[in-house]
Amino acid sequence: MEQQAFLPFALPDITEREIEAVVESMRSGWVTTGPKTAEFEKTMATFLGDSELHCVAVNSATAGLHLAVEALGLGPGDEVLVPTWTFTSTAEVVRYVGATPVFVDVEESTLNIDFDDAESKVNANTKAIMPVHFAGHSISADRIEKFASRHGLKVVEDAAHAFPATNGSSMVGNSSSDAVVFSFYATKTITTGEGGLLVTRNADLAQRARTMRLHGISRDVFARYTSKVPAWRYDVVAPGFKYNMTDIAAAMGVVQLSRAEEMRQNREAIAERYFEAFAGLPIGLPESGQGLRHSWHLFVLRVGDAAPIDRDKFIEDLAGLGVGTSVHFIPLHRHPYWRETYNLSAFDFPIAERAFEQTVSLPIFSSMTEQQVDRVINAVKKVLAPA
Ligand SMILES: *Cc1c(COP(=O)(O)O)cnc(C)c1O
Repeated sequence: MEQQAFLPFALPDITEREIEAVVESMRSGWVTTGPKTAEFEKTMATFLGDSELHCVAVNSATAGLHLAVEALGLGPGDEVLVPTWTFTSTAEVVRYVGATPVFVDVEESTLNIDFDDAESKVNANTKAIMPVHFAGHSISADRIEKFASRHGLKVVEDAAHAFPATNGSSMVGNSSSDAVVFSFYATKTITTGEGGLLVTRNADLAQRARTMRLHGISRDVFARYTSKVPAWRYDVVAPGFKYNMTDIAAAMGVVQLSRAEEMRQNREAIAERYFEAFAGLPIGLPESGQGLRHSWHLFVLRVGDAAPIDRDKFIEDLAGLGVGTSVHFIPLHRHPYWRETYNLSAFDFPIAERAFEQTVSLPIFSSMTEQQVDRVINAVKKVLAPA
């Protein structure tokens, strides 16, 4: 067989338009936070379906999640419900502010947070919940809101996987949650290299996040250079962070945003081909996302007992055929820091524990060619063929 280049699990989808926009931004003289960042924030609000939404662009989703829990005033003694099935960022930011993450198991079908398990962990110290829209299959906004209001909790949605995606009749990002945070990391559905966005309906929370993303300075740099107050004057009102998005990144983001729905449709078409091709195979397929618009950030298979090989061998054999994969996630209760600090046991997370042994994420990115999709399909069929 002819040697083919290794197909990575994810690749960014970058065209000449993004490249030109970045070059233009560099030529403009505004390389840090400036007019492009403002444009990106404004365009995002419109894209999410409500120009009144406050959008705060930052240099990562982790930064956005941190700014959200900081602005909500969470701190020592406060408990925050976090699914074990997530990236470490979701829980890490809770530690940044000295609060305590309380780990929750997930639902079998979507691998999203299990509200029954969450309910059993609510006590007088529980102050917030951080649902993760895993793979881009959103959790119903209604469900989140009902749970939060019943227990009087703040809500920060980790929507790192869910752009663009719908949640009931509106987009993920356009809910009544205190904050929703997107990621524009290199492997995510749209990218700015590194980047994130905090979205909120709460003007005070937005103001606090804007201040804290830039050293706790009460006016951002762009405003300082464009208003009538002397440019050199500013107030430091808190020990803030350095989380601002650069205009170089935002220039890329504005173009990616204009292509976001088209890119989502490409991923959806790939998912449809996978569903069709894998229908008869002895593996589990993800929830199809009926009745909602799935972002298809990830396409996660379950290689369980019915398969002739286990998940690790499946990954190894696919790699042998030149197909890259990944695993989302190694649940947080399996990582030494979280396990040891909070005395976590695998027995407390039976669904996540079993899912971890079986899950594998296939390549699904908007610039994938038909031939690349064919290669993945053929490779999956080959490694699952009875010996
Ligand atoms: C990627 C990811 C993050 C972190 O995003 P960054 O922009 O890299 O900080 C947070 N949560 C989840 C679920 C993610 O997948």
